[in-house]
Amino acid sequence: MSQYRTFTAADAVEYAKQFGGVDDPSTLVSAEEIGDGNLNLVFKIYDNQGKSRVVVKQALPYVRCVGESWPLTLDRARLEAQTLVEHYKHCPQHTVQITHYDAELAVMVMEDLSSHRIWRGELVQGVYYPEASRQLGEYLAQTLFHTSDFILHPHQKKAEVARFINPEMCEITEDLFFNDPYTDHERNKYPEALEPLVASLRHDDALRIAVAGLKHRFFANAEALLHGDIHSGSIFVADGSLKAIDAEFGYFGPIGFDVGTALGNLLINYCGLPGLLAPREAADGREQRLSDVRDVWIAFAHRFLELAEAKTTDVAMAYPGYAQAFLRKVWADTIGYCGTELIRRTVGMSHVADMKLIKDEAMRTECIRNAITLGRTLILAADHIEDVEALLARIRQAV
Ligand code: ADP
Ligand code: MG
Ligand code: MG
Ligand code: MG
Repeated sequence: MSQYRTFTAADAVEYAKQFGGVDDPSTLVSAEEIGDGNLNLVFKIYDNQGKSRVVVKQALPYVRCVGESWPLTLDRARLEAQTLVEHYKHCPQHTVQITHYDAELAVMVMEDLSSHRIWRGELVQGVYYPEASRQLGEYLAQTLFHTSDFILHPHQKKAEVARFINPEMCEITEDLFFNDPYTDHERNKYPEALEPLVASLRHDDALRIAVAGLKHRFFANAEALLHGDIHSGSIFVADGSLKAIDAEFGYFGPIGFDVGTALGNLLINYCGLPGLLAPREAADGREQRLSDVRDVWIAFAHRFLELAEAKTTDVAMAYPGYAQAFLRKVWADTIGYCGTELIRRTVGMSHVADMKLIKDEAMRTECIRNAITLGRTLILAADHIEDVEALLARIRQAV
């Protein structure tokens, strides 16, 4: 029988004393619930010197930001812990370390990253981390290559796909990314002035067909173990360091979904900066975002190809030129999914600080309009953008 109960701060401290893996558990004395996410409880556990030592995260049996009316599987804690453990094996330098997981309580213990900051929070303030984009590309290449058919034995791959079946979390993505923004759904939220633009998305046949294709590939293409939600709020940064967290949407899906989600959040920031910063700083920030987009893709693609050349185990897939051919499809998917991320963050229900923090209403509306326009442009052009330089040219042209 399940012994699930929702943790209080005191429960979290007791749990950390038992399973926190600290040398001196008796020094752990207090906890603070710091979850700013939409779904879960996150406790920082402090010692008697006031230093935070470990983090305890617990899944709630419903969507936190909506309430008990929207129930949600506790199994997502397992999927998050196991995805991060798997990614840590392949890229320990850029993945948070999970040290303990408990299925009954839907709890995990992880390394404390208080020395880092959430990247989105930095991006909206114009704080630049010049190494972050290359590190993110490295994380994506290492985690996605090492969980793909390039290297897993076919039996192992099939067992892994089964282990990471994540239907309820996938359904959220299926609805929020690919359905809601293109229909008149009550969850959607956007400025009234943009109604004509949003309505035009619903009636754009080429767009709807392209989005259907992206959703179809999200259902069908089990290419690698995705993070599943790798936006700038799931990434911690510090000087010279980057760590991915919060992988409860992990499942085997199309590689371009992770890469596109990452790029989409950089471009949301690109679209929001004119409303967030003074003109000079905004212009600098936009150039940084474009070079971030270039660096993420180049770091990802170079490392992926290098790994494919060195480590591909499948004889057919090892044939020279195949990995390049595959990456061309990943590139087209990346641009398409990037476009859907821009639209679901502006038309759909999950809005982000890059837009929400813009104080001037007219400016905010214009920034959101630009993000929607860019998203649509990218979805429609995904199969026709040759390389990353052509992508940057398209972005400059569009907004
Ligand atoms: P959710 O799944 O509810 O979105 P997250 O895993 O994103 O939860 O965590 C919510 C917030 O808690 C993060 O934005 C961050 O501020 C904080 N947090 C999460 N993990 C850690 C960690 N390992 N160290 C420090 N703070 C963390
Ligand atoms: Mg989160
Ligand atoms: Mg549904
Ligand atoms: Mg989460």
